[in-house]
Amino acid sequence: MKVLVVEDERRLGEFIQKSLTEQRHTATWVRTCGEASDALAETPYDAVVLDLTLPDGDGIDLLKSWRKSGFNEPVLILSARDTVEDRIKGLDVGADDYMPKPFSLEELLARMRSLLRRQSTQKQTVLEHSGIRLDLLGHTVQVNGKPIDLTSREYALLEIFMQNHGRVLPRTLITDKIWASSYDVDTNLLDVYMSRLRAKLESTSGKALFKTVRGVGYQFL
Ligand code: CA
Repeated sequence: MKVLVVEDERRLGEFIQKSLTEQRHTATWVRTCGEASDALAETPYDAVVLDLTLPDGDGIDLLKSWRKSGFNEPVLILSARDTVEDRIKGLDVGADDYMPKPFSLEELLARMRSLLRRQSTQKQTVLEHSGIRLDLLGHTVQVNGKPIDLTSREYALLEIFMQNHGRVLPRTLITDKIWASSYDVDTNLLDVYMSRLRAKLESTSGKALFKTVRGVGYQFL
């Protein structure tokens, strides 16, 4: 899952980003309202952790404008403002959860899991195609019943292909979803990850699972 962390305190922002990454999420950390809106406009996110007191505005206004423009993914507010009124206001403008600072990391991660689970029960929790089984909640992958060990990036790559099997996925679409900002991604990097993913899956599967479409991208068969 791809998570956007909006937090202006450097140490805290870095800490949350690192912790989410360890949980095999792709986490992007930004420090201002402006950067947060740019990030959301640029690529899709599955969830947002949102601080309220930001250098260039209020997270409440930011959330309000996102909801107005149709952004429906879960948002967890993480703020030092912890009166009942603050919480009600946050939930009323469209937050799915509200955690006061200081907070316990374990609780934050548990609440994120709960939000993502709630969201994914509306979607599918297990994807299956071509002998591959990807469990979105357990973050596990099996090929013909055999567990396969993937890195976070490889897993994220496979998830996109599983959700779009049969479709030729353009390289930019893939890199947008996998990396925080596609501007930073050397296009060769995608090929490196693809060849690793293919090697791991196809050696167990015993058949070709992906097709390289020259000049365009990749297709999961
Ligand atoms: Ca703040």
